[in-house]
Amino acid sequence: MPLPPFRRSFTQQEPIPEEAIAAALAVMRSGRLHRYNTAPGEEAEAAALEREFAAWQGARHCLAVASGGQAMQIALRAAGVAPGDPVLTNAFTLAPVPGAIAALGARPVLVEITEDLVLDLDDLAAKAAASGARVLLLSHMRGHLCDMERLAALAARLGLVVIEDCAHTMGAAWNGRKSGSFGLAGCFSTQTYKHLNAGEGGLLTSDDPAFMARATMLSGSYMFYDRHGAGPDEAAYAGIRLETPNLSARMDNLRAAILRPQLRTLDAAIARWNARHDRLAAQLSGHPAIRLPRRPPAESYVGSSIQFLVPGIAADTARAFLAETARRGVELKWFGAEEPAGFTSAHRSWRFVAPQALPRTDRVLAGLFDMRLPLTFTLEDCDLIGAHILEAAAAVLEAA
Ligand SMILES: *Cc1c(COP(=O)(O)O)cnc(C)c1O
Repeated sequence: MPLPPFRRSFTQQEPIPEEAIAAALAVMRSGRLHRYNTAPGEEAEAAALEREFAAWQGARHCLAVASGGQAMQIALRAAGVAPGDPVLTNAFTLAPVPGAIAALGARPVLVEITEDLVLDLDDLAAKAAASGARVLLLSHMRGHLCDMERLAALAARLGLVVIEDCAHTMGAAWNGRKSGSFGLAGCFSTQTYKHLNAGEGGLLTSDDPAFMARATMLSGSYMFYDRHGAGPDEAAYAGIRLETPNLSARMDNLRAAILRPQLRTLDAAIARWNARHDRLAAQLSGHPAIRLPRRPPAESYVGSSIQFLVPGIAADTARAFLAETARRGVELKWFGAEEPAGFTSAHRSWRFVAPQALPRTDRVLAGLFDMRLPLTFTLEDCDLIGAHILEAAAAVLEAA
């Protein structure tokens, strides 16, 4: 019997919880949407979110900002990156990551990734030496963590400051330690497609008071930095409060109000994502032509998307496979395409970055397929998606 086509949307997130809608209405009724517009004695929603996210993340400080991209730009500036400086980052990530480096007038130096979609630490050492870079913007693209203990030791040896892009790893951990806590700072996104949904928004965490004071001023705190309960003490601002430019990248109370109830159910959401991811992964892993990236026991991931590789697949075969899965209603993304589609993540389409030879990454991306797993999918949906992928593989990959 032929499988029924899959008809659900790969970009449909769950609705905003009623409790969050009520909190948003309360903010709107108050009229106090700007984070520094507070009634006497009131803690702004943005400040409360910072306090709660810092506690959840296990960080000393947290700053809420306008986007994940702004969190990265502010972190790089607050870490002292200047125009012209080389900054290391993954060759496989989303465009706003090299974009954050380019926004400072700095120079992205792209580091190869491995077949497990994580940073190639040997190439990191080589590129750090060749470029003289002092900063690594490490992107945990699609939720895959490299060996974070090896990375931290290597960064210390190379004298690299590490800023983590945790847009896909909010809630992930390495040997029980949360991603975002291994370097100077962690950058998170609360954009609709990430793990918390405020439409847009970002969070920056760090244990370093001097760094966080600079970041808070950069975000546009004017002289209201004492309204950041999850920020450093006032003394940290003394030497920098008038010297640091204001980039106006604050989060507003409306977004923060929507996010706070979602944070309370985030751990439960992570378990639901992983149930979906693991169900599909188990099904796909049985196919001889399909390889799933290795996930070491030290890694606790958040399976909000799934990736698989068909090593050595020819471009024509990949296109036929995409067409066959699309015909069945399964929306796969292929990173080997010449022209970027949708959200771009192939380094060749970042023309604002100097072209760089990345043969290992190119080889990996040529066989890499990717799919979102929104929580609106049921486990049975995952079974049907898996069955369609296996049938498409039988029709296209085995025939090739
Ligand atoms: C979405 C994303 C970002 C940027 O987040 P925004 O909030 O959209 O600016 C950064 N890195 C990765 C890997 C992302 O997917």
